[in-house]
Amino acid sequence: MKIGKNSVVTLKYKLTDAQGEFIEETDEPVEYLHGGYDGIFPRVEETLDGQEPGFKTAMQLEPQDAFGEYDADQVRVEARSKFPEPLEVGMRFEGVPEDEEEEPEILTITDLTPETVVLDANHPLAGIALRFSCEVLEVREASDEEIAHGHAHGAHSHHDDGDEDDDDGEHEHGGQALH
Ligand SMILES: [Zn+2]
Repeated sequence: MKIGKNSVVTLKYKLTDAQGEFIEETDEPVEYLHGGYDGIFPRVEETLDGQEPGFKTAMQLEPQDAFGEYDADQVRVEARSKFPEPLEVGMRFEGVPEDEEEEPEILTITDLTPETVVLDANHPLAGIALRFSCEVLEVREASDEEIAHGHAHGAHSHHDDGDEDDDDGEHEHGGQALH
């Protein structure tokens, strides 16, 4: 079937930077719910819309189509005494979101002095143009539940998970593609 609103698309992809340097590749195919659910980059959705299994494409994604422009305001300096040692440039950790509905931001240490830590909340790929190559493997209709949840339920769906114990409706699952 063709990819359209509320299709679940299975694809494999590879990401490189604009110079062809390898960034990321799928080990296993990923699924996403098509139709503006923020399951994958909107430019990719646009390109895949109306396509069928077997469709292959490679596209250039500008930073604004991928992980955003680099925002210098997202860099801040904190007192080193607030952090557990040892610290190292390049270390990453999750910040505490102000609003618990939000995904925690990932902070990267970009500089250290004896007194201070420089933290960068930009996505590590912010400001970078990417090349996205993918192949559509499968297309199916989403279930009502997937549409209600706004994401695909892959092979590792939380609903197959008998010891699911969180009650707030939020969950980790294997069906989600790039964010
Ligand atoms: Zn769900």
